[in-house]
Amino acid sequence: ELDEKYPPRNLPENAIVNRVGPSPTGMMHIGGLYVALVNQRLAKQTNGVFFLRIEDTDTKRSIKEAYPTIINSLMDYGVTPDEGPVRAEDGSYIERGNYGPYVQTARKAIYHACAFDMLCRGVMYPCFMSETDLEQIREEQKAADIRTGIYGEWAKSRYLLFEEIEEKLKSGTPYVLRLRAPKMDTETISWEDKIRGILSLPHNVIDTVLIKSDGIPTYHFAHLVDDHFMRTTHIIRADEWISSVPLHLQLFSLMNWQPPQYTHVSAIQKLSETGGKRKLSKRHDPEADVQYYWEKGFPRQAVIE
Ligand code: GLU
Repeated sequence: ELDEKYPPRNLPENAIVNRVGPSPTGMMHIGGLYVALVNQRLAKQTNGVFFLRIEDTDTKRSIKEAYPTIINSLMDYGVTPDEGPVRAEDGSYIERGNYGPYVQTARKAIYHACAFDMLCRGVMYPCFMSETDLEQIREEQKAADIRTGIYGEWAKSRYLLFEEIEEKLKSGTPYVLRLRAPKMDTETISWEDKIRGILSLPHNVIDTVLIKSDGIPTYHFAHLVDDHFMRTTHIIRADEWISSVPLHLQLFSLMNWQPPQYTHVSAIQKLSETGGKRKLSKRHDPEADVQYYWEKGFPRQAVIE
């Protein structure tokens, strides 16, 4: 049903459909505007679609005021999304496009439908471990100087019998849904990054949480489902996400979905006090905030150039 509701887009063959997915946790980072600009230009050059998706699955960190900040920061610099939340002429905020909703917390039913499918196929499982269990495992792993996380023998809920699961559900034990990380035949996975060329990293082996105990997906799961049903062709994002690609490709393959092309751009850096280069820090560098340039009187076109 979802595939019918969100059919492949009717666009020229090489049209790029891409997006930005900022999280509404505070200010709009200048790096976010930069990535959005790159996306918008490529979509435009290929008669594609550039959309905005608000990635607010981290409900503890999301703040209401940040939603308009994101929309205004993009639109005031001329990086207006073709689809997603936008500011209308009367100043109100509306959503446009046929592939929405474009705010992740409004897409719960879509995520749950996909999670249900994965559960039925056994590639996802309910994990009933408590915070204390997880903490204890972390301590043990640290003491043994091995990789931390839930995998292999540490993934206790992975091997529960159906009856045991049923019993725990009946007794109301809280649970998350984890990926049953598949056994892979090779050590590493290679893919072509459209800027960096062939990259290679170890396969994901962690039983990553995909749905949290409150029913909200984690970023990884939301991105998988959204970029499939929103028919994203290219994911162009900051290079801090390169290490997540093995997990993302694994998820696409478990759903039998065609993955988008992954492309990672470098972070905007500044010359550091010691002569080297470093990433702009949200906390220490006022110029990390898009608002800073406006307040200091930099013409918008100059910032975009
Ligand atoms: N929500 C992620 C962020 O805040 C988006 C990453 C992506 O584009 O896949 O950077």
